[in-house]
Amino acid sequence: MSESNISETPKVASNFIKVIINDDLKTNKYDGRVHTRFPPEPNGYLHIGHAKSICLNFGLAKEYAGLCNLRFDDTNPTKEDVEYVDSIKEDVRWLGFDWEDREYFASDYFDRLYELAEQLILKGKAFVCELTQDQMRQYRGTLTEPGINSPFRDRTIDENLELFRKMKNGDFPDGAMVLRAKIDMSSPNVNMRDPIIYRIRRDHHHRTGDKWCIYPMYDFTHCISDSIEFITHSLCTLEFENNRPLYDWFLIELGLYRPQQIEFARLNLNFTVLSKRKLLKLVEDNFVDGWDDPRMPTITGLRRRGYTPEAVRNFAEMVGVAKADSIVDMGMLEFSVRKHLNSTANRAMAVLNPVKIVITNFPEGQKEILEAVNNPEDESKGVRNIPFTREIFIEREDFMEEPQKKFFRLSPGREVRLRYAYIIMCNEVIKDEHGNITELHCTYDAETKSGTSSETRKVKATLHWVSASECFDAEVRLYDNLFMKENPNSVEDGKEFTDNLNPDSLKIISNCKLEPSLRDSNSGDRFQFERLGYFCVDSKHSTLDHPVFNRIVTLKDTWTKIQAKEA
Ligand code: ATP
Ligand code: MG
Repeated sequence: MSESNISETPKVASNFIKVIINDDLKTNKYDGRVHTRFPPEPNGYLHIGHAKSICLNFGLAKEYAGLCNLRFDDTNPTKEDVEYVDSIKEDVRWLGFDWEDREYFASDYFDRLYELAEQLILKGKAFVCELTQDQMRQYRGTLTEPGINSPFRDRTIDENLELFRKMKNGDFPDGAMVLRAKIDMSSPNVNMRDPIIYRIRRDHHHRTGDKWCIYPMYDFTHCISDSIEFITHSLCTLEFENNRPLYDWFLIELGLYRPQQIEFARLNLNFTVLSKRKLLKLVEDNFVDGWDDPRMPTITGLRRRGYTPEAVRNFAEMVGVAKADSIVDMGMLEFSVRKHLNSTANRAMAVLNPVKIVITNFPEGQKEILEAVNNPEDESKGVRNIPFTREIFIEREDFMEEPQKKFFRLSPGREVRLRYAYIIMCNEVIKDEHGNITELHCTYDAETKSGTSSETRKVKATLHWVSASECFDAEVRLYDNLFMKENPNSVEDGKEFTDNLNPDSLKIISNCKLEPSLRDSNSGDRFQFERLGYFCVDSKHSTLDHPVFNRIVTLKDTWTKIQAKEA
């Protein structure tokens, strides 16, 4: 498998960010450099929205022969954890990207950030404020009304410096005071109304341990981290547009190198949630089987479901980057993996809801080895052997005792072709005392073997099947959308987003019948089960004794249909 072969990534189509970069290259704004970063906060697992940002940042760096850093924005010790750091690295690598030796942590800059905060104090641009949280909210004003200056705003530089050092030394309890930038309480941009830079919080940090009892705020840290790493184009989502003047203010006041921030619309997908807080709730309250539950929109969930990195990268490319928010249809993500697996996944046969067929004119105990094509899209994948025996299984749904109009599959007196085998005719339906069908007695026509000249005889349906004596049992898991509503975030009064969860999102079918060649498959292997969809060996629960397959996606393409309708 060439999972990490990045050269398969399609060329990044043109977009407004590239127009900006091209202009900057023309004017030599950053000495011809392109240096981006992906800056996750390690407070959860990455989701498909992050994948878009990863593909964008690493993709641009690659396209312009530049660099892309991986930086953990770890300024909030309460919510962050090494488990998340490790998972993020694994996910970025799996997507096929390499940050080489440029793995950074905002917490590595804590000393530098502290120094810079003192510099702001020395310039008279920061002050220690003792308003309570409530008071601070009142003083802050609203979108339409200006704020009011804090009564602590005019402290002397010396007093501020002394208090800030005491804050750092642990002389005050948590929350007793904060350090704030001194900007403009009447600014129409609320972010500029003397924002907090540092707060006191006695919390163990996953990297700096108990060294600090004060922590810098995200806004202060983020822009300075970008500056320290000499990032040229700092890409972020739209909600940070109003933070840009603040970032510029910090860097200009401190006389630091200044990257160009560019905002783009975040990815939204229907029938799921893309907020780490909400995903965490699904995990913590056991609505799902962990962050890697195959229904989760997390990268680890998609991986366990059976998605390929190529499919995710291709999806990110299809989505593109825009300046306006929109909601992408889940069908597009599914389209992307279907397309990739169509050309890469071997075919196999499995029967999920079996009914037995006895081929009465086929000798008992005999086994005929037939040949099946592994991938009609790729001749180099070759063929495999499948055993044909007197007793076989087909899907119960492929038989109807009294066929309705338009039902062309098996019914009494009717013929169908068995894939890669023969045409059979149903002669007799055997039932138990309750009237349930237990067996179908059929005869096969030895002159109709697939792949031979006699194959020309036409019947209306071809069915998948497995040999009853040669197949093996497996558990198969079928998935549907995790949420019932297109927008799970829209809830009625008194309800929560979890009330929109789809109770039928997971269907476990035990004792499915799989063709013998599948016995050799390994964790993570992907197949197309003919007529049923693409499936993957579950990496968490599958064992030799109890094989488990996840359905990645059905064969039905809803996305192209939507496209055609819109065109
Ligand atoms: P969440 O809302 O899920 O907590 P976040 O933005 O707080 O997401 P970060 O870890 O800060 O999570 O995100 C890292 C990077 O990924 C940021 O640059 C952010 O802009 C980007 N990102 C996060 N969510 C999306 C999304 N839905 N679409 C595109 N980019 C995203
Ligand atoms: Mg964030």
